[in-house]
Amino acid sequence: MAGDVPPLAPGATIGILGGGQLGRMLALAAARLGIRSHIYCPETDRPAAQVAASTVAAYEDEAALTQFARAVDVVTYEFENIPGPVAAFLDRLVPVRPSPKALAVAQDRFLEKSFLRDAGIATAPFAEVSTSDGLSRALAEVGVPAVLKTRRFGYDGKGQAVVSAPEDAERVWAEFGNAPAIVEAYVPFTCELSVIVARGLDGRSACYDPVRNDHEQHILARSTVPAGVSAAVEARAKAIAERIVAMLDYVGVMGVEMFFGADGDDGLFVNELAPRVHNSGHWTTDACVVSQFEQHVRAICGWPLGSPRRHADAVMGNLLGDAVDRWRELSTEPDTALHIYGKDGSAPGRKMGHATRLFPRGADAESVERRMETVEP
Ligand code: AMP
Repeated sequence: MAGDVPPLAPGATIGILGGGQLGRMLALAAARLGIRSHIYCPETDRPAAQVAASTVAAYEDEAALTQFARAVDVVTYEFENIPGPVAAFLDRLVPVRPSPKALAVAQDRFLEKSFLRDAGIATAPFAEVSTSDGLSRALAEVGVPAVLKTRRFGYDGKGQAVVSAPEDAERVWAEFGNAPAIVEAYVPFTCELSVIVARGLDGRSACYDPVRNDHEQHILARSTVPAGVSAAVEARAKAIAERIVAMLDYVGVMGVEMFFGADGDDGLFVNELAPRVHNSGHWTTDACVVSQFEQHVRAICGWPLGSPRRHADAVMGNLLGDAVDRWRELSTEPDTALHIYGKDGSAPGRKMGHATRLFPRGADAESVERRMETVEP
């Protein structure tokens, strides 16, 4: 039984596929528990490799993967687009957590939405599409406006197109480039929420308070907690997230993105599962007893989960592109925790760092709105 596996002790090494900021923050959290990290990524001088041991090699390099597997006690990943066969290859040598099976579900929007539907969890109506005729048929099923999305490798709104009318199907499909896709009904939501949930090897789970996410040009700009929804909605959002990780027999942290309040009701629709630590959980480092990063390390190492309790209200703002140049000014702000990722060059929309503003707990919805208007970034 998984629960009987002894936990990895301090001194153990976790392997992390991917070298970005999420890997960096995982390695920093692991270090605090006396656990070492070893990063595997194809590029040099990535943010995670600046704070941990690293292997620079292609994901298809089986000799390098084998050596990496021998150097670590467990493997995890910080992004979901690693090739599926890589996770399966490593899993034969060393435990991979979250499991390759959970990764496969989250990598493919059609498998993901089908899993949610079969689990009885509400999503936007959706259908699989692989031809222009198929798109017309699917639009008849889900209605317009609709959103066409590639099944795989989409992020931050990439690989998406809005279809406003049935007669646009042929044109949109041609522009889309024939990639296997799903189409889903456009959800007229009031706001976007996410829940960061963790599940341990022993099957216990822990949820952070739901956050409200605001995007600019499809990129997360700000996460605010509390989210400004009722306690009942918060409880429902957490229950959905906990059900998802239980159904997947998941180990680790997951970000569950949801749409809230479509058509004036208080429905929650799950939009996307991120099988890893998530940008909308960065505030947990500064506002919670145990951060999402430590929680993930605990889960994959077989430790008991820590407390997700929140000791402050928070607004996390991403520092995109040149916004990171404001580090001097941000570093003087009271109650602001600054995080800079060590990337080699900024580009518009590139996530260079984030700043989390902390406030005493107990905000009402109105003051949440006010904070969101006044807090920059
Ligand atoms: P995704 O890549 O699925 O996370 O989508 C990126 C963003 O596009 C979401 O955060 C929403 O703002 C928007 N979006 C995606 N799907 C839908 C939908 N079915 N209805 C309305 N907006 C959507």
